[in-house]
Amino acid sequence: MPQTPAEIIVKLPEAFEKARESGDLLFFPSTVHKHRDSDVEFEIRLCPALQKKPALPTPHFETAAALQPQKPDPFAPPYVPNLYLGELRDDEAGAEYVILFNKYSVVPRHILLVTKEYQSQTSPLLPQDLVQVYSLLAAAQRSGKRFFAFYNCGDLSGASQPHKHVQLIPLEDDGPPVERLARATKIDYPDRPFTLNALPYANHVRRLPAHLPSQGYEELERTLADAFLALLDLVVATVRHDPTYPTGTPSYNVVLTLEHLHLIPRRRENHTLAATGEPLSVNALGFAGMLLVKSERELDAVKEEGLGAILRAVGLESVQEEIENEQRS
Ligand code: AMP
Repeated sequence: MPQTPAEIIVKLPEAFEKARESGDLLFFPSTVHKHRDSDVEFEIRLCPALQKKPALPTPHFETAAALQPQKPDPFAPPYVPNLYLGELRDDEAGAEYVILFNKYSVVPRHILLVTKEYQSQTSPLLPQDLVQVYSLLAAAQRSGKRFFAFYNCGDLSGASQPHKHVQLIPLEDDGPPVERLARATKIDYPDRPFTLNALPYANHVRRLPAHLPSQGYEELERTLADAFLALLDLVVATVRHDPTYPTGTPSYNVVLTLEHLHLIPRRRENHTLAATGEPLSVNALGFAGMLLVKSERELDAVKEEGLGAILRAVGLESVQEEIENEQRS
């Protein structure tokens, strides 16, 4: 029986406690460390208990189903009842979604919106996906809570599961950190993509209209799909400027708030930390300004190297000027 976004949001606090107490959801406590770089007050989350979580090799998504038929899909039924929050159905597009708690939670009430039928994590967000995610963010806001969403798309994006999943995380303040920079940026054309120039890597952002949370399906779908496609074009254009970029579908991270949509093209999944020689996996959370690290040593290494430089190493150089020149000619 499908539910509304508001019904999902309202049950989160109680359902989270129940899932945690049952042992079906594993909660890993963490501490937040501030790190100022590139005009952003980054929040690095240190979670030593994550060292105990088994590290899964990153699947090659396009061939994951064919190569790993024996590997169970955690986002396919049967669902663990304590992790299952309900379903959302989009009658217009004929799309169905399941909402699950993240089984391994670092932030309480971290939820996943997964497609009910298997779709690949290399596929772009579709208009109906964007509408459902945005509707969840809007429902949360109406109930006095603030969430943001992120999507790790493609082999180099930092995703660990090949079944299409968008993730939503509650915020305690007006973040995530990179969103504060977007909010403070003055733009001349509100309906055109822009770049956060203080960041040392390619990033493409669209501001969403202030009235969007109260709009109906059609307006939401049109606005979000237009914004997403405009940014995806820029991701593809950025990637084309890198002659060494691997062939195939480009990888990128998506960060969505009620106010902005951010797309960040990705060149690598991991960065080898200079101080430790060990790889650090970065996903959309890192680009939202909320990197996760697993030890004090890793935290010190990140601070020493600078998060902006690390994000640049796993992202791409901004070629915004070149792209604009090409568009003009
Ligand atoms: P990503 O690593 O970005 O692809 O996100 C996948 C998320 O799914 C991770 O944060 C995992 O903690 C979470 N996850 C893995 N297995 C399960 C499961 N069986 N049920 C719910 N969440 C899971």
